[in-house]
Amino acid sequence: MNFNMNLNTLTTTDLRGKKVLLRVAYDITLQAAGDQFIVPDDGRIRATVPTINYLLAQDCSIILLSWLGRPTPGLIEEQYKMDPVAAKLAELIGRPVKKLDATVGAQVTEEIAKLRPGDILMLENTRFLVGENEADPQLGAELAALGEYVVWEAFAQGHRVHASTTGLLEHSQGKCCAGLLMEKEVSILQGLLLNPQPPFVLLLGGAKVSDKSGLLYTMISKVEVVLLGGALANPFLKAAGYNIGVSLIESVYVDQAKGTKFDAVAVASELLKDQGDKIKLPLDVVVASKSADGSFDKNSIRIVEIGQNKDLCVGAEMILDIGPATRKLYESIIAAAGTIFWNGPMGLFENSDFAAGSLAIARAVAASPGFSVVGGGDTEGVVRMAGLSQAYDHLSTGGGASLSFLSGEELPVLKYLYK
Ligand code: AMP
Repeated sequence: MNFNMNLNTLTTTDLRGKKVLLRVAYDITLQAAGDQFIVPDDGRIRATVPTINYLLAQDCSIILLSWLGRPTPGLIEEQYKMDPVAAKLAELIGRPVKKLDATVGAQVTEEIAKLRPGDILMLENTRFLVGENEADPQLGAELAALGEYVVWEAFAQGHRVHASTTGLLEHSQGKCCAGLLMEKEVSILQGLLLNPQPPFVLLLGGAKVSDKSGLLYTMISKVEVVLLGGALANPFLKAAGYNIGVSLIESVYVDQAKGTKFDAVAVASELLKDQGDKIKLPLDVVVASKSADGSFDKNSIRIVEIGQNKDLCVGAEMILDIGPATRKLYESIIAAAGTIFWNGPMGLFENSDFAAGSLAIARAVAASPGFSVVGGGDTEGVVRMAGLSQAYDHLSTGGGASLSFLSGEELPVLKYLYK
C-alpha cells in the first residue's frame, strides 16, 4: 500500500463553475411504505452534504451518480430506484434535486447541457446498466463523459472494480479528485494503520470470518488486544475445543478468484496458535434453541459460562450473544483503550432477546475516551438501535471498504486519486 497517500482533494483543485460528476455511495436499503419506498436512514446522504455545499459555493452544477443494492442488470426494479434518495437529499439541503430515470444516453446528455450553476441532477442506479458489474470500458467512458470533472465521494464503493468506479476514474483522464468524505475516511483509517494511540483495541463480531480474517492478520501486530464476539467467535471457540452445537459457523468454501479453500476453523486455529495471547474470547455466552415454528423459544434462553465445561450447547442450542461476564470484561478493556476499531455485532442483535451484548458494546465504545472508529454495515444497525450514531469519533460509511483498507489491500479507486 502507498502510505504516502497524497490525494488530490477539493481544496487543491479549482472547480469554479464546472459541471461536476459527484460519485457518491448512496447504497441504502430502501423501506417499503405503502406503494412507495422511503429512506430509513439518511446517514450516507448526510455524510456527503459538506462536499455538495462546497461545490455549490464554487458555483458548480452537480450530477450525482451511485449504485443502490443489487438489482438485476438490464431490469428497472422499483425498490432500487434512486427517487427516494433524491427526495431525501433535497430535503436535507433545502433545494431541488432533479431525478432522471436514465443513467446514460441522449436524455441525460440533454439535461446535463441545460445545467446552470447551483443545479443538482441525480442519475438512475448505475447497477441497472448491463456492463456496470463487469467494468465494461465503453460504459466507463460514457459515464466519464457526463461531467467536466469527477469528484470521488464514494468511499463505500471504492473497493469494487465496476464501470462506475475504476472505469469512470480511468476515463476521466486525471480530471478527478477526492471529496471531503473520501479524504476523511482515508486519513482516519490510515491513521489507525500508521500511528494509533495505544492501547489499540480491535473489536470484531458479526458472522463472516472470511470478511475479517485479512484484517485480523494485518492488524494483530499493531493492536494490544482483539475482543471477539458474535458468530465470529464461534470458529475460535470450536478451535479451542468447545462443542458449539449447531451455532452459526461459516461453512468451508473455495474462493474461486484465488483458487484457495477457506476454512474458518482452520484460520481461527492458526490465529490462536500464533497470537493466542492477544485474542480474547467470550467468558460466557447466551444460548437458546428454536421452537417448532422456527422462532427462538424464550424459555430455552440460558447463560453458559465458558470454562471447564467443554459443552457450550446441548441438543439444538445455538450461541446467540455474549454473556454478562464478557460484557463486563470487554467494557473494562474498552474504557482503558487509546484507540478502538469496532466492526460487527456481538450477537443476533436483530432479535431483542440477543441484542444486549451488542448494545452494551455500542455504549462502552461511545463512552470510552479512546479514539473510536466504527465500521459500517451491520454495526451501523446496532449503533442506530442504541441511538448513538453521533457518539463516535468516526462512523465509517463503508463496512466492506474499511475492512479491505485495514487488511492492507489498496482500494482500486485510490490510484486514480493520488497527486
Ligand atoms: P457480518 O456481515 O459478518 O458482520 O455479520 C452480521 C450478522 O451476523 C448480523 O446479521 C448478526 O445478526 C449476525 N450474528 C452475529 N452474531 C450471531 C450469532 N451468534 N448467531 C447468529 N447470527 C449472528
